[in-house]
Amino acid sequence: SLRTMSSIPPPECLFKEMNIPNRQLYGPGPSTMPQAIGSSQAQPLLGHLHPEFVEIMSQVRLGLQYVFKTRNAYTFAVSGTGHAGMEAAILNLAERGETILVAKAGIWGMRAADLGRRLGLKVEVVEVPDGQVVPVSAIEEAAKRVKPAVIFVCHGESSTGIAQPLEGLSKIAHDNGGLLLVDTVASLGGAPFDADALGVDCVYTATQKVLNAPPGLAPISFSDRAMQKIKNRKERVASFYFDALELGNYWGCDGEMRRYHHTAPISSVYALREALAIIAKKGIDTLIQQHIDNAVALYSQLDQAGFKMFVEKKEDRLPCLHTVRVPEGVDWKAVQSSLFAQGIEVAGGLGATTGKIFRIGTFGQNSEPAKTKEVLSKFIQVVKEQSKL
Ligand code: PMP
Repeated sequence: SLRTMSSIPPPECLFKEMNIPNRQLYGPGPSTMPQAIGSSQAQPLLGHLHPEFVEIMSQVRLGLQYVFKTRNAYTFAVSGTGHAGMEAAILNLAERGETILVAKAGIWGMRAADLGRRLGLKVEVVEVPDGQVVPVSAIEEAAKRVKPAVIFVCHGESSTGIAQPLEGLSKIAHDNGGLLLVDTVASLGGAPFDADALGVDCVYTATQKVLNAPPGLAPISFSDRAMQKIKNRKERVASFYFDALELGNYWGCDGEMRRYHHTAPISSVYALREALAIIAKKGIDTLIQQHIDNAVALYSQLDQAGFKMFVEKKEDRLPCLHTVRVPEGVDWKAVQSSLFAQGIEVAGGLGATTGKIFRIGTFGQNSEPAKTKEVLSKFIQVVKEQSKL
């Protein structure tokens, strides 16, 4: 009968095991996941308001305050990937008709500008050629002119490999009546960052880069100044799912009784808790320094092999994601396939940098010098073989 008979046969591919190679992820993310983080996800599920789970959420909040370097009460994780952090940030911080000033050094500034337009904001963009950082003076000049409600900057621009300087930006935002929003998806834990010392009003990141956890959560933090603005909005945030007040209540940030907001991705929260535990034991500053030292060794290994870095000024480079020019005559896709066959991922460019660069991510545990050296040797060898063909 209609009730029990399906005309669609079960897909036979689902009768077989999934085929997942053990690949070392040295691209721009996700990064290789340590065993302990993977195992944490296999733990039994709990309910999203069970006391033991709520306790884990509190531990995650403390861990996030530690890695962001902030005492902000509204520090939690949005359920969703890095983009969810970006959407949540912009949705909450700005109201329709207000201006967002975007410092664009690559694709992520472009994405923030696009999102701003979708949300009915006025968008003002200050841009630089790929491979450069946006001068603080250019941001200041634009801020004085357009009086933005929000200034967006991407700390680690993963499409070009730059680390955007952040000093002085919060003063510029505040002096002109706005808030400073920073994307640290590709940089948190891999480059110096201190939310409170820098006066950042909102910062978000993602779990699959330096944290070495699976993609799926976007840690975020709002300053008191940002919360003041959010609490005094003229209109409610045009999203229930991303409303910082609702999310903050569920995560226990407002001291009130927790209300069900959504079913947290329980296993992803376990993984984030484990990732933060690894960083707490190592020390966030040790981790950042490890990325810096590792990057110095990487530059010298590539330089000796005759490669050119895409970001010319050393001080502008992101220590956890390296952009290397594709040498003349080399087929970057063939290099990538050849490394895949050896169990290693290295990526090509993104957006305007496609075809021009390789992107080598040394996130978290992948930033151990011996591992990086080995992966780089294989990369160098494959490119050299390629150029002889
Ligand atoms: N911002 C930056 C700087 C990123 O590198 C990425 C991911 N590559 C994102 C935002 C978006 O994150 P996701 O892909 O997790 O949504």
